[in-house]
Amino acid sequence: MTPALRLVSLKKHFAAGRAGFFHRDPRLVHAVDGISLEVAHGEILALVGESGCGKSTLALTLLGLEKPTSGEIHFEGTDVTHLRGAALKDMHRRIQMVFQDPYESLNPMMTVEEAVAEPLEVHSLLKNSAARRTRVIQALEDAGLKPADSFLDRLPHQLSGGQRQRVVIAAALVLEPTILLADEPVSMLDVSIRAEILNLLAEIRARRSITILFITHDFGTIAHFADRIAVMYLGRIVEIGATEEVLRDPQHPYTQALLSAVPVPNPRLRQKRLILQGETPNPIDLPSGCRFHPRCPVAEDRCRLTDPPAVPLSATHSAACLLVED
Ligand code: SF4
Repeated sequence: MTPALRLVSLKKHFAAGRAGFFHRDPRLVHAVDGISLEVAHGEILALVGESGCGKSTLALTLLGLEKPTSGEIHFEGTDVTHLRGAALKDMHRRIQMVFQDPYESLNPMMTVEEAVAEPLEVHSLLKNSAARRTRVIQALEDAGLKPADSFLDRLPHQLSGGQRQRVVIAAALVLEPTILLADEPVSMLDVSIRAEILNLLAEIRARRSITILFITHDFGTIAHFADRIAVMYLGRIVEIGATEEVLRDPQHPYTQALLSAVPVPNPRLRQKRLILQGETPNPIDLPSGCRFHPRCPVAEDRCRLTDPPAVPLSATHSAACLLVED
């Protein structure tokens, strides 16, 4: 079956510095550096990594807000890598983003109804006001704000943090997208509300058969939520697999270190924490060979020279590590 999303060797590099009149800085920031990935229809894929690993740049590139440096983006079987104009706008309708901060995402002067209806206006859809209101009410109810009528005239300051994030989700759903990109959608919320929003996203997936790419730095958040996990490090996917398998048997030393830092309530189940050496390298001056080698607790001499092969496009469980290959 054609995947909802297919990325082939996708790269997004930025110039490291501003070009002067006589001098151009030739260095590049390798934000996304060769990602190949398939996401099935109705799947929840969690993209996990530390901040600065390129997760958010990848999301902006998928949305067409950043132009890829090279590689391909296929959306439901169509190559959308170089879309422009009306075709790009139509793709934006079908891929919607839920941002991290519900306080920043909502205009304090707009009512809930205006905020949720705004994307319909931008896309010139449902000009009939009754039809538009019906769609807004449906989106609010699907986002768990019931009865929806009682929320329509409220302003953001009259809502709790969880309710604001539900309004943001309703504004993404109102265009009836087929893919939702959720960039750290619960990290700004109280712990007590996080599970509610995750359950809501899982319900939305079930009800609307929507595909969700869930971006997070926190393994703890996605353990019981995502179907598969892709772990990102310095612009590349270093491990991908079914959630249960990655959590039970992480293959890549970076995944092992991230998982060892997840708090476990039962002291008997706690594992020894793996401390990574040093800071994440600068994405301008990438290390030779395996880019994780300066921090890897099990690096060998050959890791400084040889770059491990990328994880395959439709991998079931695979890690980009020379030791795993053996
Ligand atoms: Fe560590 Fe070497 Fe594997 Fe890279 S290839 S993760 S440095 S063991």
